[in-house]
This record gives sequence, structure tokens and C-alpha cells, in this order.
Amino acid sequence: SKTPVRVAVTGAAGQIGYALLFRIASGEMLGKDQPVILQLLEIPDEKAQNALKGVIMELEDCAFPLLAGVEAHSDPLQAFKDTDYALLVGARPRGPGMERADLLAANAQIFTAQGKALNAVASRNVKVLVVGNPANTNAYIAMKSAPDLPAKNFTAMLRLDHNRAASQLAAKTGTAVGDIKKLTVWGNHSPTMYADYRFATTNGKSIKDLVNDQVWNADTFLPTVGKRGAAIIAARGLSSAASAANAAIDHMRDWALGSNGEWVTMGVPSNGEYGIPAGVVFGFPVTTAGGEYKIVEGLEIDAFSQERINITLAELQGEQDGVKHLL
Ligand code: NDP
Repeated sequence: SKTPVRVAVTGAAGQIGYALLFRIASGEMLGKDQPVILQLLEIPDEKAQNALKGVIMELEDCAFPLLAGVEAHSDPLQAFKDTDYALLVGARPRGPGMERADLLAANAQIFTAQGKALNAVASRNVKVLVVGNPANTNAYIAMKSAPDLPAKNFTAMLRLDHNRAASQLAAKTGTAVGDIKKLTVWGNHSPTMYADYRFATTNGKSIKDLVNDQVWNADTFLPTVGKRGAAIIAARGLSSAASAANAAIDHMRDWALGSNGEWVTMGVPSNGEYGIPAGVVFGFPVTTAGGEYKIVEGLEIDAFSQERINITLAELQGEQDGVKHLL
């Protein structure tokens, strides 16, 4: 059988962690033939470490055949040792009365430390997915703090936005979500993201032609996808942890095992594609194969799309300017 791979997860005792770890351990992320060792990180706080112990007891009690080991850590230098995959879920939530600058600064501290730790001890091929918000900017900070690792290995999660858009389009067109191809989401994981179905098909038919309603696109579809997280909090009284965990699984699985030619959305550092300045961690359409992603190039950007891309890019550049002095 295969040699186990090491998977680090931060914020492991949180809500998303609880919806994520059991699926990684059951083989849904890296394949049903790939043993994993979980290297879990939580803050040193006694309550968090105790909660982590409880989660580990449950992981043990699942008796997952693929779970080759579980470690609990409070130091990223230990949690990221030799890790092949790192899912950075833990982040500082906005507290009462907290200014945006304080939030950025608190997260800059966390993700600078984690980027440095990855740089020092992780596998040289580590694949990093940042889920903790602000995800794109946190990924940028970690990437900048890890100069010895390939920048392309730092990614942010746009997949939840992608999956939300796919589900809305399936409902609108009366087709199955699995039949939808060539959908993408540009930009920041925030309400400014631009879900773009201009190239998308369902059962081979153009979704743009089937929908044929630009007012629905601008006034219903985009706000529904953009504000979906808030709608779930309003309905459930809790955030969308299960669907976020599911999207993290999808992102890592496709990156590791390939997307079979299909487009998926990943937040990745730009190399200048579509006029996005190099280094900005931006949602792009990608295809994945052999453990590498490739940005889909050459798509036409019309005036409406350019305007949307400019808005989400400006927001991201504002966030990145806000942390520059901390890097
Ligand atoms: P969650 O597990 O619910 O969320 C974790 C992060 O994921 C937050 O930044 C959250 O952003 C983000 N996120 C991204 N997409 C979504 C989505 N669709 N729905 C909900 N969240 C999303 O938070 P908890 O508070 O339950 O758990 C966080 C854990 O992280 C805690 O146990 C804490 O101790 C730990 N932590 C660990 C750190 C470390 O390992 N060094 C550092 C900081 C915290 P948003 O805030 O916008 O909802």
C-alpha cells in the first residue's frame, strides 16, 4: 500500500475543522487508497487544546483504515513538520468593536508566523490552501513569508463560491449540478467576487443562452452567490461550516488528483494573467493535472466582466496594501 502523506490542519477544533477532518481521514480528499497522518494545530489556550483532544478521540473512534496517525500541536513549527498538504483554516474572527485594520493586523501576525514555519519545516512541495478569512490576503501573507517555497503552492479557497454558483445555475436551468462545466469565479473570496457563467455549459448547452437574462445575472444571481454566507448565518444562526469544509475537500482533491480537463476555481497568485498584477492571489479558472494547476488563458473579458473584475481587484489590492508594512 501507499506511504502515508502528512496533512496539517489549523483551527482543527473549530466548526470547519469538525466538518473537515473526518472526511480527510476517510479518504475523500486524497483518495481511498492514500493513508494520511493528520498534524493538527490549535492555539495554546487550554479550552482549544481540550476541544482538540475530544476531536482526536472521535477520530480514533471512527477506526478509519486510512488514518495512519494523528498529532495535536500548538506550535506551527511542529504541526507543519514535513507536511505535504496544509489547510490553514484557523483565523482571527472580527471581534466586537474591531476595526478592519486590527483584523488585518491580527491575521497578518498569524499568517506571517505560519508562512515562516512552512518555509522552515514543511515538504518543499507542500500544497497550501487558506480557508481562514480574509482568505486571499492571508494566503498572500503566508506566501510572502515563505520565500524558499514555490509561490504557486499557496492558494486561497474560492471553491465555495464556485460551488454556490453552480448550484444556483443548476436550479435556474433545471439541470443537474454535475452537468455544469466551464464555470468560474474571479477575484476575492468576499461579496465582491465575480461568478462568471458566460463560458459555462450544462449538458453541452450554453448557460448564458439558456438563461438569456442579464438583469437576472446582475440583480439576482450575483448578489445571491455573493451574500450566501450571510443568508446561511441568518437562517441557521451559525456559519456555513459544512459547505466550507466540503469546498476545501474539493479544492485539495482536484489539485492533488486532477480535474480531468474540467475547469475549477482556485485563488492562486497571478503571473499577470488577465491584467491582474503579478503576485495578487486571485480567483481564476484553472485546470489541474499531475498535482499542478494551470490558469485557463485567452478568455474574452467583456465590459461588464471587466468592471466586476476591477472592483474585486481593487478590494484585494486595498487589503494587500493594508498589510504591506507588516510583512
Ligand atoms: P470556523 O471553523 O467556522 O471558521 C474558520 C475560518 O474559516 C474563519 O476565518 C472563517 O471566516 C473562515 N471561513 C471561510 N469560509 C467560510 C464559510 N463559508 N463559512 C464559515 N467560515 C468560513 O471558526 P471557529 O471559530 O469555529 O474555529 C476557528 C478555530 O481556529 C478555533 O478553534 C480557534 O482556536 C482556531 N484558531 C487557530 C489558529 C491557529 O491554529 N494558529 C489561529 C486562530 C484561530 P469568518 O471569520 O469570516 O467566518
